[in-house]
Amino acid sequence: MGRSVLVTGGNRGIGLAIARAFAAQGDSVAVTYRGKPAPDDLFGVRCDVTDTEQVDAAFKEVEEKQGAVEVLVSNAGITDDTLLMRMTDEQFANVLDANLTGSFRVAKRATRAMLKARWGRMIFISSVVGLMGGPGQVNYAASKAGLVGVARSITRELGGRNITANVVAPGFISTDMTESLTDERRKTILANVPSGRYGQSDEVAAAVTFLASDAAAYISGAVLPVDGGLGMGH
Ligand code: NDP
Repeated sequence: MGRSVLVTGGNRGIGLAIARAFAAQGDSVAVTYRGKPAPDDLFGVRCDVTDTEQVDAAFKEVEEKQGAVEVLVSNAGITDDTLLMRMTDEQFANVLDANLTGSFRVAKRATRAMLKARWGRMIFISSVVGLMGGPGQVNYAASKAGLVGVARSITRELGGRNITANVVAPGFISTDMTESLTDERRKTILANVPSGRYGQSDEVAAAVTFLASDAAAYISGAVLPVDGGLGMGH
């Protein structure tokens, strides 16, 4: 309660639901955005996570407004799906840069203050696809699988300082990202989801706020699926 929280890509979709869930429990919440600004009830900072200088500037703004970031949610992410045979180096590199290197950039920037405070929570939003793979998603799956290595290495480096790093792996959640799927792909996906439905952003947010809570102090390096059973706990 009353923590300083930063959610990357918190202006819409899952990130917005996560930001609102923290705000509802009384935390000070900042969200990053690129184009579409954050809703008025949230403190928005412009930041493209592919740019280290923008990341640094965004953290400075947040520090001035609400103090050093104590809870970091690395949520910003993109897809650029196409079959392996057609995927260009650029398509691979761009998705990795936003999803994986972007998470590295914000985690690194958050670490200094967390070490000083001897407390911190980092939560990385991965995907069921990171562990199960997905056709046409070599770039996306690689970026999301990489987050598990990031969180587990941070756990080993910083675990002794009350800093936890965990991964939340959502399944198929109704947002702009899943809007772009074809009807055929939707049908195939739902046929494999034991709960038989898409998830809601709020259901992802509940897992994230739990991992940031004092109740989760002894959970680190974990991958928490929010996928209706699709990945069977991975
Ligand atoms: P949306 O496409 O709805 O939102 C993506 C968010 O990421 C936006 O806020 C966007 O900002 C931000 N973003 C993208 N690239 C950058 C960048 N380079 N720098 C800063 N911000 C960036 O996606 P979702 O809400 O669906 O997804 C959120 C996260 O959850 C992603 O990491 C996604 O991979 C993951 N996820 C989603 C699932 C789903 O079913 N929806 C399933 C599993 C995982 P802007 O508005 O400026 O574009």
